[in-house]
Amino acid sequence: MSTSKAPLLINGRTCQWMDRPLVVVCLDGCEPDYITQAMQAGAAPYLREMCDSGASFLADGVVPSFTNPNNLSIVTGTPPSVHGICGNYFYDRAVDREVMMNDPEYLRAETILARFSQAGARVAVITAKDKLRKLLGHGLLNGICFSAEKAEQATLADNGIAAALELAGMPLPSVYSAELSEFVFAAGVNLMAAARPDLMYMSTTDYVQHKDAPGTPGANAFYAMIDRYLRKFSALGVTLALTADHGMNAKTDAKGDPNVIYLQDVLDEWLGRDKARVILPITDPYVVHHGALGSFATAYLPSATPADEIGAGIAQMPGIEAVLNRDSGCRLFELPPDRMGDLIIVSERHVVLGTSRKRHDLSGLDVPLRSHGGTSEKTVPLLFNRRVKSIDHSRRLRNFDVFDIALNNLQ
Ligand SMILES: [Zn+2]
Repeated sequence: MSTSKAPLLINGRTCQWMDRPLVVVCLDGCEPDYITQAMQAGAAPYLREMCDSGASFLADGVVPSFTNPNNLSIVTGTPPSVHGICGNYFYDRAVDREVMMNDPEYLRAETILARFSQAGARVAVITAKDKLRKLLGHGLLNGICFSAEKAEQATLADNGIAAALELAGMPLPSVYSAELSEFVFAAGVNLMAAARPDLMYMSTTDYVQHKDAPGTPGANAFYAMIDRYLRKFSALGVTLALTADHGMNAKTDAKGDPNVIYLQDVLDEWLGRDKARVILPITDPYVVHHGALGSFATAYLPSATPADEIGAGIAQMPGIEAVLNRDSGCRLFELPPDRMGDLIIVSERHVVLGTSRKRHDLSGLDVPLRSHGGTSEKTVPLLFNRRVKSIDHSRRLRNFDVFDIALNNLQ
């Protein structure tokens, strides 16, 4: 690693070479209050140190406040209008199919990770769930990229490492567990100690945040675990940068039942059955802890339907925060218009949007629903273990500024 190397221009941003290994962590579903409460409870002494002697900000993530759009924004330094990943799931109009958006064929920008690897940096990516692995590892040259979920299947040819499972020194956890995130940290810190990659990106899972509110024993124990690993990383002399893809809120009524507006049912009643198509970009194969319910939806309307009129009707429903047409929604949230429907709908903080009541299996919800997706979950932490040189306080900080600040703006 050499700081004399020429800076890289990546998606319009100049990136200096790191002067020591850089570890960027995306804590899935980390509502800022999780960190505040864990610090107050004395469960996160290293995070407190980061705030005191490094730098701590609040930043805006991308709306829809879901995992894939935000992770891809973070690793490209761009909004979804540039990188194209606007959900976990979307309706591909070109082939008239609803598909998962976890394949690199949907990615329209190169990643900072890929570019550094192509320029000679040693890059490692570790994700909790496998759904992000291919997108985050796209274009990596001689890099390491594996998920905790499928660590036992990692091979040198596909993942740049054969002994991913052994690396963590712990048993392979369930995909629905706090340990899946611990596995990411354990593997990461051991990899840093053994191989000292120049650049590492780690992404956890929000299993705990979907269940446990900030300040609860479960949440504090989870952040105490993270805190111990962050301290280990710090002891290895790395630059640490930490942010989140989205926050998390309770989505329940006074009785603790899910607060759901079933939009497909509403539109079926207004327009006829299945005339409109409601897409929930939260949809992914791992629905147990949120029942595919989040606070963001997009709707495709039959041609010649007055979108503004339908939008105004939805906007009047209690629990709806905003309804925008495609153009204004894509402008406001920086989304790719060709991958969004005629209407973009955001629900209020404690309300989620569904398709049809019969299509959501809520039997896996063993605790009151907590979820994300709306503007109410867009505020996330942005922490560094070094001071920043200067920050323009009038600037709107984004979670996807994390690499920019870590590479260009730390003391
Ligand atoms: Zn997430």
